[in-house]
Amino acid sequence: MNLKTLFKVSYGLYIVSSKKEKNFNGQIANTVFQITSEPPTVAVSINRKNLTHEFIKLSGVFTVSILSKETPMKFIGQFGFKSGRDIDKFKDVNYKTGITGAPVVLENTLGYLECKVKGSMDMGTHTIFTGEIVDAEVIKEGEPMTYAYYHDVKRGTAPETAPTYIKETKSKGGTAMAKYKCSVCGYVYDPEKGDPDSGVQPGTPFEKLPDNWVCPVCGATKDKFEKI
Ligand code: FE
Repeated sequence: MNLKTLFKVSYGLYIVSSKKEKNFNGQIANTVFQITSEPPTVAVSINRKNLTHEFIKLSGVFTVSILSKETPMKFIGQFGFKSGRDIDKFKDVNYKTGITGAPVVLENTLGYLECKVKGSMDMGTHTIFTGEIVDAEVIKEGEPMTYAYYHDVKRGTAPETAPTYIKETKSKGGTAMAKYKCSVCGYVYDPEKGDPDSGVQPGTPFEKLPDNWVCPVCGATKDKFEKI
């Protein structure tokens, strides 16, 4: 059995948000899909360990923001690799409170759905929530981010709590410059690609990165990186 076959399944990239009383939280999800059109219903798969899971269970509502292809890594990192238990993810983010009372992220968003939970299925590590769409709006035109694009082009990685996480085997190496992996989020610094978003030119070895350089995804400092 080759579980890498699962990489051929296509996904998008979304922020699923919910609320608990006056508190908001949201997380990156790639498993959002439409189930029926009458009534309009979608399903999301959320890790039980995540704070958003707790919020959806308690409030019975969630929203889905559909991210555009241009969404920066840092923005994805803010929602994907940080926990709402440690930080307020909505601080400094453009959002609105929807008709369900749950937050709707508007930044880097092509459109959003607001849903009321209709049912849930315990899948062990994850819960599948189904939700009837009670509001939806297109914000702007553009191409949605796909999981493959995020993974291949933006060099994104999946946190271990993602439903689609597959343990990757280490490559045999043989390259002149070593790659380094962030021990916090799994981001891999590839010297051949550099980190153009942070002004680091392709061809810059990890050792030559400035001391104040941080992981472009989660903000971890250089000492959190391990050679791979
Ligand atoms: Fe990181």
